[in-house]
Amino acid sequence: MSDVPDSAARRYAGACHCGAVQFECSLDLSGAIACNCSICSAKGLVLAFAPADAFRILAGEERLNEYRFNRHVIGHMFCDTCGVEPFAKGQMPDGTPMAAVNLRVLKEVDVAGLSPTPYDGRSA
Ligand SMILES: [Zn+2]
Repeated sequence: MSDVPDSAARRYAGACHCGAVQFECSLDLSGAIACNCSICSAKGLVLAFAPADAFRILAGEERLNEYRFNRHVIGHMFCDTCGVEPFAKGQMPDGTPMAAVNLRVLKEVDVAGLSPTPYDGRSA
């Protein structure tokens, strides 16, 4: 796994609620967003984005189920035991594969201390 080359990106560890799914990633939390689309609202997701090579599943990949809806461009990955979505799979605008990480599952991150940028996914 490589670190994101620029900026304030640093490494974080995360897991689903039951701990079956474990991962690590490099993220710049200044890029965090709070999206108002139907699924982000329902799940309370606050997200930040990592290129696929800055995201690595350490355990439990076989426990992940995938949910797609609407245009089916984003794979919402959730644990088959606890139901928590640690991340989603998608693409950057330039087509680069990326992970949209649920910041609420990162061990060292207090989402209440962040100021995520609102994103109008409901209208997108
Ligand atoms: Zn779980």
